[in-house]
Amino acid sequence: MNLASPIEDVKGIGPKTSEILNHAGIFTLRDLIYHLPRDYQNFQQAESIKDLKPGQVTIKARVDSITTSRRRRGLTLTEATLRDQTGAVRAIWFNQPYRAKQLATDKEYYFSGKLEFSYGRYQLMNPSAELGKDIEADPSRSLQSIYPARGTIKSHDFVKYIKTLENTIALTPDLIPDFPGRADALMDVHFPETVEQAKQGRAYLATEELFSLLLASKLNREENKRMRTAPIKHDLEQFKAMLKKLPFPLTGAQKRAIWEIMQDMEREIPMNRLLQGDVGSGKTMVAALSAFIAAKAGFQAALMAPTEVLATQHAEGLSELFGNEMKIALLTGSTKHKNELKKHIAAGEVDLVVGTHALITDDTVFKNLGLAIIDEQHRFGVAQRQKLLAKAHTLPHLLSMTATPIPRSLQLTIFGDLSVSVLDELPAGRQAITTKIVSPNSTKQMWDAIEPELQNHHQVYYICKKIDDDGKSELASVKRECQHLAKLFPNYHVDLLHGKMKAAEKDEIMKRFAAGQIDILVSTTVVEVGVNVPNATVMVIKDADQYGLSQLHQLRGRVGRGQDASYCYLVNSSSEAPSRRLREIERSQDGFHLAEVDLKLRGPGEIYGALQHGALDLRIASVTDTKLVHQASKLVDNFLKKGYDLLEYKELAASVRKYQRLTTLN
Ligand code: ADP
Ligand code: MG
Repeated sequence: MNLASPIEDVKGIGPKTSEILNHAGIFTLRDLIYHLPRDYQNFQQAESIKDLKPGQVTIKARVDSITTSRRRRGLTLTEATLRDQTGAVRAIWFNQPYRAKQLATDKEYYFSGKLEFSYGRYQLMNPSAELGKDIEADPSRSLQSIYPARGTIKSHDFVKYIKTLENTIALTPDLIPDFPGRADALMDVHFPETVEQAKQGRAYLATEELFSLLLASKLNREENKRMRTAPIKHDLEQFKAMLKKLPFPLTGAQKRAIWEIMQDMEREIPMNRLLQGDVGSGKTMVAALSAFIAAKAGFQAALMAPTEVLATQHAEGLSELFGNEMKIALLTGSTKHKNELKKHIAAGEVDLVVGTHALITDDTVFKNLGLAIIDEQHRFGVAQRQKLLAKAHTLPHLLSMTATPIPRSLQLTIFGDLSVSVLDELPAGRQAITTKIVSPNSTKQMWDAIEPELQNHHQVYYICKKIDDDGKSELASVKRECQHLAKLFPNYHVDLLHGKMKAAEKDEIMKRFAAGQIDILVSTTVVEVGVNVPNATVMVIKDADQYGLSQLHQLRGRVGRGQDASYCYLVNSSSEAPSRRLREIERSQDGFHLAEVDLKLRGPGEIYGALQHGALDLRIASVTDTKLVHQASKLVDNFLKKGYDLLEYKELAASVRKYQRLTTLN
């Protein structure tokens, strides 16, 4: 057996299991061996019951009492009280009635499981149990791997399969020249004797992964430098004349960004620029001016947005300002006479096509696409971006836009050929959004404060977590709250919006809201992304503690877009003290500051998780692991300096190729 052997070769894996594993992307022994534990049951360091904190815990305790009862639908519930010298804790098991027989009240056990706060108390959920003296007699059992489940294949199945591969793992050859130790690292991760060992092994494997990513990015950079595209020249006088026609002067940051874009587009090397700016910083205007320059130089531009609502709004807003200067069209799933429009696009009769994913269907053909723009780029995957770029004859210039800051270190190491323009300045005249945390019992006062806004013909967003009441949680739903508010405000027009509505219906609602025909819009987070209705001055977020910091910031950014004072109310779902998250958002309106706080509170993994998953597919490493990134980058330099030939390293080459596909432009 070698790493490339199919998993069917493993003892105990039959056709059925292999099908499930294949489905989860596990085909070869290598894939299986790289299915790493997500955690360990650590019987070495039992904690005192009185010091337990929520999360994965291990205790050494006796069973005070244990009973099993039947519940609805054949469910059984086994409950026990576990005790050590410092205190007692409740444990429960679902559908494991044998626990009552297995656990004797006169013996000591190690229990390992998740401590959760539910139904008003802390309890240990479905803990595993090992007899104390068994563990103490056999130290190799004291640290046990917990693997992520895949379909019906559970952690203990993976334990079994990987155990049979112990010899193969121990003989794994190194992946990267001059970086010895892969076999040991894999052994340490799967069968560690100490927590520290497992950690070190993981760090080795993470470095390996980062090596592939960094080498891929370097190779791409070399290739991109050789890429050529049609330069887009600008006419400065014409551009200045256009600026004069705009209803407002550009901010300094917008001017800087557009200047950088002009310089980039003039070159033969395709632009790859990220426009990063907080909500409301005016990214759309920069995009529109770039498209204007392209159009005047005889090129087409495409602007892709993640939702119909947003695409529609962009198309309408830009038509108003630029309609006399260039031909703008909207292309979404619900566009009527699509085929006719596509003919116009193919004939080059449209200068700027604004759209959703409908832009990248095979039958959308451009005559000469010179500039591709992607709004809210983190919402799109690599494949979608590449499809848009493929609409041009040669690689077009690319402008991506996002409100999510990407750390500088990441930009340089991973997206090496990416240039960044930052909009760090809001348009003049914006007022701060007064933000208040509201306890669920003081919503009456909140509405009293909001009513004058309604009387002034301003509009209100009211955000709920759920669409329907599903009986599973207490969280407010769009439908129920809409009914409730309609009763509360009979003189105002209350309506609702959510993601399960048909695109045409959503558009209709959004149009009516934008036109001021709806006073209170009860909605899910579909309004989160980019929507712009300057007359809306109040944002109410129900169950605000259920959202992440950046999401709250994005939602709040829907108001405060005009000249009027705006308000954001964060309604806590309980009357307990508000969380740090809510207090931060109440205090600050600086997206970059909030992103930093978020980074501290949640850790980099979760925030850049989406980025890594979607764009980079890192499984072990995190790009924010600066120490490992640095080490990997030194290994890459060594690899290139010594002139190793990638083709001679098959496994490595395959991994590098995967990352090249993920980080390339075309
Ligand atoms: P975002 O960066 O979040 O995408 P938008 O592009 O939607 O922001 O712009 C938000 C609002 O600011 C829009 O109403 C837009 O017309 C307005 N705006 C953009 N640039 C300026 C400016 N320089 N001065 C005043 N208002 C501006
Ligand atoms: Mg936007």
